[in-house]
Amino acid sequence: MIIWGSRGLTSTVDSQPFHCPQCDRQRQGDLKQVRTFFTLYFIPLIPLSVAGRYVECTSCGGAFAEDALTYDPEAERQETQMQMLRVMVMAALADGRVDDGERGEIRKQYMELAGLPIPEDTLNREIELASASGANLNSFVAGLADQLSPHGKALLVQLALRTMAANGDLQPGHQQQLAQLATTLQIPQDQYLELIRHLSEMDNEATG
Ligand SMILES: [Zn+2]
Repeated sequence: MIIWGSRGLTSTVDSQPFHCPQCDRQRQGDLKQVRTFFTLYFIPLIPLSVAGRYVECTSCGGAFAEDALTYDPEAERQETQMQMLRVMVMAALADGRVDDGERGEIRKQYMELAGLPIPEDTLNREIELASASGANLNSFVAGLADQLSPHGKALLVQLALRTMAANGDLQPGHQQQLAQLATTLQIPQDQYLELIRHLSEMDNEATG
């Protein structure tokens, strides 16, 4: 009787430093490839398809999707800060211009977010780019909504609201963009109103 079949064999095809999500630090990662072999009498003879690839941390042994190799938490943090800055600029621009009060609020919130002051030329450039883009707060946020956690969405609303309210009352353009945000961020309307109410109260307590 001829005994034949198939089995998967795992081999290491690459090894490089990566940010291990489990260790939460830089580790050596082995890129593993599982290949299916045709076997005869249980001996792998002919390589068939590649069944899958994954990254294995050599420190904790955790296995992760291949894109873990290119994940850079520092780059992601900077990218998030830049997007939140753009949200604030778009929020300020909802009434057509970024005035001094709004600029001050953007600077203050960026400092809280990034732990660093925003360079003047970066802020000026972002305002120019946002004005020239033809986008508004909601069209910009629509491109981010899918990547945001509920916490990220709440932070975004907070940044937008505080920037718009820098000079006290919201202008009609501000109100219009703010009212659409619930739909753009896919937050149920009652939760959204509750969030706005909560944020307004927090700010009143802080200033009053
Ligand atoms: Zn690890």
